Amino acid sequence: MKIALVGNPNSGKTTLFNALTGSNQYVGNWPGVTVEKKSGKYKNDKKIEIIDLPGVYSLSPYSLEEVIARNYIIDERPDAIINIVDGTNLERNLYLSEQVKDLGVPMVIAINMADSLRARGEEIDLKKLEKNLGVKCSLISAVKNELGDLMELIKKAERPQELNYLDADIEEAIAKIEVQLSNDTFKRFIAIKVLENDPKIIEKEKIDPKVITQAKELSLALAKKYDDDIESIITSKRYEYITKVTGNIYISKSSTKESISDKIDKIVTNRILALPIFVAVMTLVYYISVTTVGTMATDWVNDVLFGEIISPAVESFLVSINCVPWLQSLILDGVVAGLGAILGFVPQILVLFFLLAILEECGYMARIAFIMDRIFRKFGLSGKSFIPMLIGTGCGVPAIMASRTIENERDRRMTIMTTTFIPCSAKLPIIAMIAGALFNEAWWVAPSAYFLGVVAIIVSGIILKKTKPFLGEVAPFVMELPAYHIPKATAVLRSMWERGWSFIKKAGTIIFLSTVLIWLLTNFGFVDGQFRMLDTLEIEYSLAAIIGRAISFIFIPLGFGNWQATVATLMGLVAKENLVVTYGIIYGIAEASEEGSEFWGTLATSFTPVSGYALLAFNLLCAPCFAAIGAIKREMNNAKWTLAAVGYQCLFAYAVALMINQFGNLFIYGSFDFFTIVAVIVLLMMVYLLVRKPKAHSLKVVGAYE
Ligand code: GDP
Ligand code: MG
Repeated sequence: MKIALVGNPNSGKTTLFNALTGSNQYVGNWPGVTVEKKSGKYKNDKKIEIIDLPGVYSLSPYSLEEVIARNYIIDERPDAIINIVDGTNLERNLYLSEQVKDLGVPMVIAINMADSLRARGEEIDLKKLEKNLGVKCSLISAVKNELGDLMELIKKAERPQELNYLDADIEEAIAKIEVQLSNDTFKRFIAIKVLENDPKIIEKEKIDPKVITQAKELSLALAKKYDDDIESIITSKRYEYITKVTGNIYISKSSTKESISDKIDKIVTNRILALPIFVAVMTLVYYISVTTVGTMATDWVNDVLFGEIISPAVESFLVSINCVPWLQSLILDGVVAGLGAILGFVPQILVLFFLLAILEECGYMARIAFIMDRIFRKFGLSGKSFIPMLIGTGCGVPAIMASRTIENERDRRMTIMTTTFIPCSAKLPIIAMIAGALFNEAWWVAPSAYFLGVVAIIVSGIILKKTKPFLGEVAPFVMELPAYHIPKATAVLRSMWERGWSFIKKAGTIIFLSTVLIWLLTNFGFVDGQFRMLDTLEIEYSLAAIIGRAISFIFIPLGFGNWQATVATLMGLVAKENLVVTYGIIYGIAEASEEGSEFWGTLATSFTPVSGYALLAFNLLCAPCFAAIGAIKREMNNAKWTLAAVGYQCLFAYAVALMINQFGNLFIYGSFDFFTIVAVIVLLMMVYLLVRKPKAHSLKVVGAYE
């Protein structure tokens, strides 16, 4: 038996899902997209499979989540649907229920948040509601694990009663379409969608063109009569009906009683206090995960566990068995270093996800999104994008992973693509090196790097928002603010572990393989025509240097078209701080300090301040390190989107570095050449992309959510 959970975001689907499945669950992504897919076995009866569908406000074709949810139901035909609704917000939640009812699948409505209702002193007349809706209802509190008779009801669930409450002429039009459909189930739902001219359903169900024409005529006639389009008519009729149905079901509605949660919200979402409180909470999260506990644990894994325990142990073992040097190097600098790179991030990720899970569970995350949304919407990001960006100042990997908290797929992709523009801590040595070697350690270099990152995010947000994959009305921001409550330890730990483990599994491979590849490229090369393994300071003979010489010409317009800069940039892909280390090795210093002060003088001879800053800008904005690329791959769950993200970042970095170098040379040194013209064209193109009006499109938001 397959049971699908359908409900609005924040109605408690995932909480109910966890309560029903215990630990028998599988978490993944829907094929090809980044929307989370969860399925699991009911813990008291393994024959029952439960699927947590993405949270939706309706079953229209306006968001990917909506399309996933309804396609799942139509294609997979679950045996029953649990429609979970927030009992404290019945009117709004039942709009979805009405559409689910039209599908005609056996269903039960689970009225969640019974605890909050009790706290408010409200009680619902379930019998009356069931009669009004024509569906069995069960009052539950997912978070308190009070599931009432939900599972007994669902086992013998029936198709919803057909109440056909819309106006007679609308019902008549629906019936006329219905009789001509070949699909035996979902008839009413499909008929309504055909009447609304929903292109996705028409294509999916291969609706006969004659029926489409007839539907168009019918809806046109109705539109004329009601002076509105058919979709808005049906929407408003549904709301009218819901208002009527819910009007008389509260037994003791004491709207005067203010719950503790309302009291907290008065302070937390207060116009003046909201932001300072938010800043304080995020500072604490940041402090614990990025500057103290998380980083200390990560440093311990990197420096002590791998640096002092595992590496030396493996090394002495390899020496003891007389292992050949190249294999020793492969195992130590390739394999062990690769594993270290993956596992090093794990403690930080776990600490961060532990804290984020608490914020999500207790109900504060919904408020964060609410508070930040107005600002972030302006450039195409979600209110929740703020968290990844903040975390990104520490490390891009957990930052990208933190995008998991964003439910909307478009918002999430956009956040993943732009988050690593913020300088992470590994980029600080590069900034220090450039500031020291070329700007006399001027104070403004570091802040300017952060400023550049923020501007890059805003500009990218605006540009990308106007491209096809991101186009579309901003998802309507209606968010239930769930009542605050103490988070459950099991839920927090489970959420932390799921996310941490998926990083190890999915991001691990790409990090590992890239580390080994780079090991190969830098440790082997041709010396006097002979291919052999190289010593540390022989990097100029390495395969990496050969590649660097071959491709360095592409950086000529940016002002650093030499193999040294190319190889250093390439090595920055392993870990950004390697850029400094590589320059050290190139200049013959194997053990340079973190920001390379030993070779600042030498470096200054091959750069001008302008080309130096262009190098800095390029390396801050281009593809992040392999670990972060691995995280992008894991989160995008799609090779094309991963390439698109990395490709966009490199292209954007190139354009910015080009403009910095060319305009810098023009205004400071008065030099003008062919590439100055190219830079002007690039600038004009960027301005165009920023200000152009996106093509009109057919998406629109359902009436009530405008
Ligand atoms: P989803 O978006 O539908 O998956 O909702 P979640 O399961 O993530 O729940 C959203 C928020 O509501 C979380 O903070 C939950 O802890 C909270 N929540 C879920 N069920 C209940 C409940 O029965 N009572 C209360 N008070 N809060 C709940
Ligand atoms: Mg959920």
